[in-house]
Amino acid sequence: MVDPASICPVRADSITRWDYEADVVVAGFGVAGACAAVEAATQGAQVLVLERTGGWGGAAAMAGGFIYLGGGTPLQTACGFTDTVTDMKAFMKAALGPGADEAKIDLYCEGSVDHYRWLAEEIGVPFKAEFWGEPGWEPPTDAGLMYSGGENSAPYNTIAAPAPRGHVPQMSDKQAGGERGGGYMLMKPLADTAAALGVESVYDMRVQTLIVDDDGRVVGLTAKQYGKTVAVRARRGVVLATGSFAYNDAMVEAFAPRIAGRPAASIEEHDGRAIQIAQALGADLAHMDATEVAFYCDPQLFVRGILVNGRGQRYIPEDTYPGHVGQATLLRNDNQAFLIIDEAAYEEGTSRPTATPQLRLPPTWVCETVAELETEMGLPAGTLQATVEVYNAHATRGEDPVLGKKSEWVKPIGSPVAAIDLRGMTGGFTLGGLRTDLESRVLHVGGAPIPGLYAAGRCTAGVSAGGYVSGASLGDGSFFGRRAGRSAAHG
Ligand SMILES: Cc1cc2nc3c(=O)[nH]c(=O)nc-3n(C[C@H](O)[C@H](O)[C@H](O)COP(=O)(O)OP(=O)(O)OC[C@H]3O[C@@H](n4cnc5c(N)ncnc54)[C@H](O)[C@@H]3O)c2cc1C
Repeated sequence: MVDPASICPVRADSITRWDYEADVVVAGFGVAGACAAVEAATQGAQVLVLERTGGWGGAAAMAGGFIYLGGGTPLQTACGFTDTVTDMKAFMKAALGPGADEAKIDLYCEGSVDHYRWLAEEIGVPFKAEFWGEPGWEPPTDAGLMYSGGENSAPYNTIAAPAPRGHVPQMSDKQAGGERGGGYMLMKPLADTAAALGVESVYDMRVQTLIVDDDGRVVGLTAKQYGKTVAVRARRGVVLATGSFAYNDAMVEAFAPRIAGRPAASIEEHDGRAIQIAQALGADLAHMDATEVAFYCDPQLFVRGILVNGRGQRYIPEDTYPGHVGQATLLRNDNQAFLIIDEAAYEEGTSRPTATPQLRLPPTWVCETVAELETEMGLPAGTLQATVEVYNAHATRGEDPVLGKKSEWVKPIGSPVAAIDLRGMTGGFTLGGLRTDLESRVLHVGGAPIPGLYAAGRCTAGVSAGGYVSGASLGDGSFFGRRAGRSAAHG
């Protein structure tokens, strides 16, 4: 339980001593904070970053590293793909809603090639010009480009010309979820650039509240350092960049209960603090119910079978982005999923390369016929049989008119046939947060910007309002983090 008094803004005239001072003060040294700091310093501001843990990085440094970029980046071109801003916008608006912030998506897409150049050429993030075309959560190699949002799958391949937009920083011998992932190779050059620009960082410093002057302008922050409360003055602006609320149980219960008890792809420091202290000042919120959802099964397996829900019915084209599968399973099918796959397909899938071998689960039930399997699984009689019969009837022609799976992945399901129990195999993080404008100013519930207060990253509602693509978080966190830094530097 949070002490309400500790959330409320502190009045500047009650501060007797400023322990730290800078033009721009950034809370959180993950991707959004790092980009804000670098951009503010580039604009000539003196910048101080306050970080709760013992070092820079945040969830970003643990991440697979996808950054969602497109519209014809040099990496896309070098890998032989054509992309346009128009197609990127059309895809993002279709895939990231309902209710996606169209103005944010427009700006993001129009600035995407420049943002890539900034990352690659000015910050020095390495990208290898190699495309990874196999199903998977991320490339198991150091390849730099992959489809990361189902752009080439139904229904999106009928809405916009598909192009891969998942840009992954190069990391050899990578391992998921640690300091050997692509996200580290994004954060390391960002942190180095910030240091080279003279950005000061203070660690073990946990931001607590905002400080406001008599006019309601944010002029600083209080923070806890080794048990002591310190006051930090921001002469031009404060940037909040402390991550999501995935680890705040009460907020998750209140806003996004489907992921309660199953936080993933986030860190414990994502406790929603920035959202709450800005709320206490009247800040507006957006899309607090939106969540990214991971699905704990190797795409190399489920693309070769069919996924059915608790009624034995298919509900998603299995060749799409695995995050769409996760959302469809948890949010629209009561977290009930089974993979139906025959022996030949299972053996083929497990022989292909993957970044997630731990998600290659063994079959739960194996039978000679679908009728037997249905009984073993406890599904209502005839349900799975009807699903497989319809699927196989079309699959003999390499077609899937029901859900539009691409013909290269459509094969009749034979015997022996297995089911893998995937009920409850999901987790995720929250996508909603502070409502910000295109300049990353935090908006009051009345609609006007709160003077002196800026925010970016997963403490804000970014380009994803409901749907998600891998790379949207490092993407909008870095893009709107830069804008936050620039805006704050100009006060
Ligand atoms: C294993 C894994 C894989 C992922 N893969 C991808 C991917 O491929 N692509 C993608 O787009 N996203 C991915 N994500 C999600 C992505 O990393 C985050 O959503 C993103 O880093 C959010 O950016 P941020 O700047 O808001 O938060 P962070 O990068 O987490 O930075 C927030 C920082 O604020 C600090 N902080 C928190 N509270 C306070 C406080 N009170 N005071 C001071 N500091 C504080 C935290 O310690 C942290 O350092 C992944 C995440 C994980 C864990």
